[in-house]
Amino acid sequence: MSEQHQARKRFGQNFLSDPNIIRKIIEAIRPKEGDRIVEIGPGLGAMTEPLMEAMDHLHVVEIDRDLIARLKEKHSPERLTIHEGDALKFDFASIVPDGVPLRVVGNLPYNISTPILFHLAEFAEKVKDMTFMLQKEVVMRMVGEPGTEEYGRLSVMLQYRFNMARLFDVPPGAFRPAPKVMSSIVRMVPRPAAECTADDYALLGKIVTAAFGQRRKTLRNTLRDYLDEADFTALAIDPGLRGERLSVEDFVRIANHVAKKSG
Ligand code: SAM
Repeated sequence: MSEQHQARKRFGQNFLSDPNIIRKIIEAIRPKEGDRIVEIGPGLGAMTEPLMEAMDHLHVVEIDRDLIARLKEKHSPERLTIHEGDALKFDFASIVPDGVPLRVVGNLPYNISTPILFHLAEFAEKVKDMTFMLQKEVVMRMVGEPGTEEYGRLSVMLQYRFNMARLFDVPPGAFRPAPKVMSSIVRMVPRPAAECTADDYALLGKIVTAAFGQRRKTLRNTLRDYLDEADFTALAIDPGLRGERLSVEDFVRIANHVAKKSG
């Protein structure tokens, strides 16, 4: 099956073609024999093949049937397990029945970048680390710090579970077809669970969403369904601030205070 693959926009297909960038990404991942690695969206195999060279066995999750057929033709199931389907619905815990911590990598389809990050966050306990290529703008939001324009819901909800670092940027010319935007490589490492724990994760999500829903408004306004003046005093948080001023730990303290009050 050597005919050209027509890149599919609906699957966010931009294939890496620059060998130097591919090498740099693989060096950042540092795959080792015995690692349990799953690659999301192997595509035409730009990262898959160098990963396989370093390891006995690799897992991939791919949605495009044509690309799955190509991978099957090229690689034996002894070396490559292909999980056919949507990574957004994939149970990543199913790859680690024995507790070997999972390493997740991928040049992620940009059209589903936020939902896939939230889906993966649910498996944080099973994960050793994750290394992804994403739109630079999304990575800047992931690693954004309080008080900056990039800091928002994505920053808080991901930084709650992961330590993250932007490793380097990748220009559009490294892909075929070239995307319109710059990309960045980000590394995500789960934080120890004890470091900062919300008693009610769903409530944390609701409070963070409310606080950033209207960025210009103060916490007194955005969190009025959750906190009154006495609560702000008890928490030692100024109700005249905007949500972007609060740290991840502040949001967790608020969520735990609200949970206690209503529980
Ligand atoms: N890893 C390849 C590379 O670097 O050249 C391809 C990267 S391309 C940006 C994204 C890949 O994810 C494509 O192979 C696409 O078919 C696949 N993909 C898109 N949506 C997906 C989904 N929901 N679940 C699994 N794979 C998906």
